[in-house]
Amino acid sequence: MMSKRLLAQTTCNMLIRCSSTLHSKAAPAVMAQLQSEMPQSDHRPAEYTGPSYERILETRKNHLTPNLLAHFKKPLVIHAGHMQWLYDHEGRRYLDMFGGIVTVSVGHCHPKVNQALSEQMSRLWHTTNIYMHPKIHEYAERLTAKFPGKLKAVCFVNSGSEANDLAMLMARLHTGNQDILTFRNAYHGMSPYTMGLTAHSTWRYPLPGVNNGILHVMNPDPYQGIWGGSACRDSPVQTTRSCSCPPNECQAGVNYYNELEQTFKYSLPRGKVAAMFAESIQGVGGTVQFPKGYLKRAADLVHANGGLIVADEVQTGFGRTGDHFWGFEAHGYMPDIVTMAKGIGNGFPLAAVVTTPEIAASLGMALHFNTYGGNPMASAVGISVLDVIEEEQLQRNSLEVGTYFLNCLEELQQRYELIGDVRGKGLMIGVELVSDRETRAPLAAPHVLDIWETCKDMGVLFGRGGLHGNVLRIKPPMCINRADVKFAVDVLGQAIEDSLATPK
Ligand code: PMP
Repeated sequence: MMSKRLLAQTTCNMLIRCSSTLHSKAAPAVMAQLQSEMPQSDHRPAEYTGPSYERILETRKNHLTPNLLAHFKKPLVIHAGHMQWLYDHEGRRYLDMFGGIVTVSVGHCHPKVNQALSEQMSRLWHTTNIYMHPKIHEYAERLTAKFPGKLKAVCFVNSGSEANDLAMLMARLHTGNQDILTFRNAYHGMSPYTMGLTAHSTWRYPLPGVNNGILHVMNPDPYQGIWGGSACRDSPVQTTRSCSCPPNECQAGVNYYNELEQTFKYSLPRGKVAAMFAESIQGVGGTVQFPKGYLKRAADLVHANGGLIVADEVQTGFGRTGDHFWGFEAHGYMPDIVTMAKGIGNGFPLAAVVTTPEIAASLGMALHFNTYGGNPMASAVGISVLDVIEEEQLQRNSLEVGTYFLNCLEELQQRYELIGDVRGKGLMIGVELVSDRETRAPLAAPHVLDIWETCKDMGVLFGRGGLHGNVLRIKPPMCINRADVKFAVDVLGQAIEDSLATPK
């Protein structure tokens, strides 16, 4: 029996005794068991009037390409959203703990963002940038003001892959070097250019040339990697691994750095690298955090060899990590290029590359064009998202509610051995499910899916990630509150309890 009730009572008080109505219509199989109540919402979504569930399935099968994967055995039809809530076609309400894959930063259909978009829509949609429409200029000022140092030039695009494509191009043009380093377990995009950066076998097509000039270095992962310890991470929760490092030192980080140096010694042309890409916390890879101090030393090494550091803030930007607006700031280094997408537009197709004017000048060597990048609607949304983050203090909320979340999950980890690791910062959280705490082997896929699906049935949508899909990814809209957290943690606990009670 894997489950052990080590804590009878916790500060999070997992055992709630009132009965519940989960959604307006809840999944009957689990209604009776969960005794925690879904937080109230005053919002009433419009009734669903679209095609039938069966028709949607048929259209998907016949007219959409098969790469379009839907979550869950019986995929959800979601037709409306409001802040942290999503609604399916039958009127069920779900607490969205994945935010459209870390994208809905300030809340679904946030009224202020909606208003900014609708005002812009009634004035001007699109011209391309051959005319100087005002919004892109206003937005460029607002966004670059968020960056330190010389990071003051922005190029707007439409997706994270495009942003990383452009960063690769700029790094190669500016340095005159070709080779680019990324980490195993990284995800930087799906365009043919960025697929080479992405280092998950599951996300790579066997095409010639994808890896042209790209090397994947050892992932400095203090939980699953060959080195790790009990104080490596910048997180309220540490790994279950032990070490004897004194405070403020991390031997695992030093070991990983030494390993990186080997790549420079043996695999790169001497003194020549174009760039190293680093997510501040790996997202798709399962919320993997690097040892403290590692990225700063890696950045110094890259700079000493003529290269640039690209901080991929597609998931970690815009206050999500809580203590800083950008994830790289907590690592204590200054990137040369920062790429961002997802949360920047709260779901609107908007992304950007911010760099120094000197590096940006490399684009002047030829013509470079992007039809939609920073168009008036996108810019209006981007400005409004920045306004809401400031006005509603969402960075602070991420820190406070995220830390509470992590603490509650750590308590859950003490009750259930299959929670091997809890990690992250702010509202960028991962919960790794394992079959054995000692070996850290992943929990078998059917068992993970069981837990994940039961959470959905009880009204909480988590994401999944990591190479084996055994990490629950928790990256909700940054407007969630403690009551939401409490409900989500209770649901997860109940789903684990149910799965352990079911004969496998
Ligand atoms: N970088 C990171 C860190 C990402 O998580 C993603 C998307 N998951 C991308 C880049 C690519 O973004 P997009 O899907 O918008 O192309």
